[in-house]
Amino acid sequence: MTDLHIISGQTVALPATIFQARHFIDGVARDSADGLRSDRISPSHGVVVSQAALGSAAEAEAAIRAARAAFDDGRWSRLSGKARAAVLNRVADLIEANVETLAVIETLESGKPIAQARGECAGAADLWRYAASLARTSQGDSHNTLGTDILAVVLKEPVGVVSIITPWNFPFWILSQKLPFALAAGCTCVVKPSEMTPSSTAMLAGMLAEAGLPAGVCNIVLGYGNPVGSLMASHADVDMVTFTGSTAVGRTITKVAGDTLKKVALELGGKNPQVIFPDCDLEGAADAVTFGIFFNVGQCCNSSSRILVHEKIADAFVERVVDLSRKVAFGNPLHPDTQVGAIVTPEHRDRIDACVRAAIAAGARVCLGGSSLTVPGLRGQFYQPTVLRGVTPDMAIAREEVFGPVLAVLTFRTLDEAIALANDATYGLSAGIWCDNMHTCLEFGRRVQAGTVWTNTWMDGFPEVTFGGVKQSGQGREIGSYGFDEFLEVKSLVMRIGRTRAPWVNQA
Ligand code: NAD
Repeated sequence: MTDLHIISGQTVALPATIFQARHFIDGVARDSADGLRSDRISPSHGVVVSQAALGSAAEAEAAIRAARAAFDDGRWSRLSGKARAAVLNRVADLIEANVETLAVIETLESGKPIAQARGECAGAADLWRYAASLARTSQGDSHNTLGTDILAVVLKEPVGVVSIITPWNFPFWILSQKLPFALAAGCTCVVKPSEMTPSSTAMLAGMLAEAGLPAGVCNIVLGYGNPVGSLMASHADVDMVTFTGSTAVGRTITKVAGDTLKKVALELGGKNPQVIFPDCDLEGAADAVTFGIFFNVGQCCNSSSRILVHEKIADAFVERVVDLSRKVAFGNPLHPDTQVGAIVTPEHRDRIDACVRAAIAAGARVCLGGSSLTVPGLRGQFYQPTVLRGVTPDMAIAREEVFGPVLAVLTFRTLDEAIALANDATYGLSAGIWCDNMHTCLEFGRRVQAGTVWTNTWMDGFPEVTFGGVKQSGQGREIGSYGFDEFLEVKSLVMRIGRTRAPWVNQA
């Protein structure tokens, strides 16, 4: 190999000190009672970049207790929307002031390019601002047509205590898709980031306190899925759990949350198709396919990990995607030009490679990449941008989420065939179509099974536009007004006007 565009230098220096991440419980930053900590090694540099308190059941219990008490005494839920919005807007200001610090630790812990980490953290501030606007505009319904002596209103109330469990691939963005919306609704929270990327969430604790969020309203516990996450999902004092992560863990969460019938919202995996018709802007489509698979090193729920290309243009189109992929800047995530960084752990790199080996054994052909590589001067784990052709719908590489920089190319002849292939998946997170015929785009948009459909673009997102998956990609929605509604219960209040109620008991 290496006609890839490799960047081995860095312009942002590795920090001189190792960041110490601590829990944040009832307004106090603290270590674990048993003193346990875990090291995080940079996926790109092979050195320890942070140390985090490793929570146990004791910390999870304390955090849930604090959130429950804070919810029940109304210190947050009974504030006006205006007062809650003011706090959320101050948090947004503080995030904006600290984008660089947050972005550097995200890059060091996850291996993602610094430019993408900066974009993620700056964009997250906007999610906080949008949620602040919802805190002030939340409203219910009124029923004024039930008769002269009846008035009914439908109130929206906070769900209560919400457990928030997040993954490592977009730690600060996904946290911000959930937490400000829950807070805007008046809920109190217990948050657990991934054990691999705890620090940006731990850094937020100081900003919450500085912004004036009352103690106990947001509590952060660091640690593993077991015992911390599973206790957060099963505890009787928790009213709702919102989880982003793998479909396998999502299933477990649904089961354990079922014992107390708590509300569950899940954002899970995907095997998202982009369909390419011959009449589209082929250059734009090739660029979007390259972006869709290599952004965040393909470790992205919205990764367009399979493309369906019309057979008439398949050879030329794949050649163009391969050309572009070679030009993507690959290597040290601490260089601002880098577009593709490291794989999160050596085990995950090996899993990606096993998926590629299995695809080759099943008959797929490698057009680009197909193995791991070392980047000069770095001690982390990297995987080459990989493009596989000759993929058939029955192969695992066409059906299963790889969560890495591996593109599977399939072909089709008709719109019906493209829709059938797109829907032939257990997942249904997102899908896209590239075509200049509006009728084809609309028909695809209506028939494809996905929570988000992009036409002639990929992965454009806005706080206003709701997000989520169908089938085994999840349940419930995030962001937008629908995402906000997930954190609200609906209560009907039926009121009689005057003493007009006919007695039920006949006293004659
Ligand atoms: P993961 O499921 O391994 O872990 C996610 C979180 O769950 C982590 O905080 C982990 O500690 C915790 N966890 C693990 N076991 C648990 C348990 N038994 N109970 C409670 N919590 C537990 O996922 P990951 O590897 O961190 O992230 C990658 C996955 O996330 C991919 O499948 C990806 O598609 C998905 N994802 C989905 C979206 C979306 O919005 N749909 C966004 C990002 C990532």
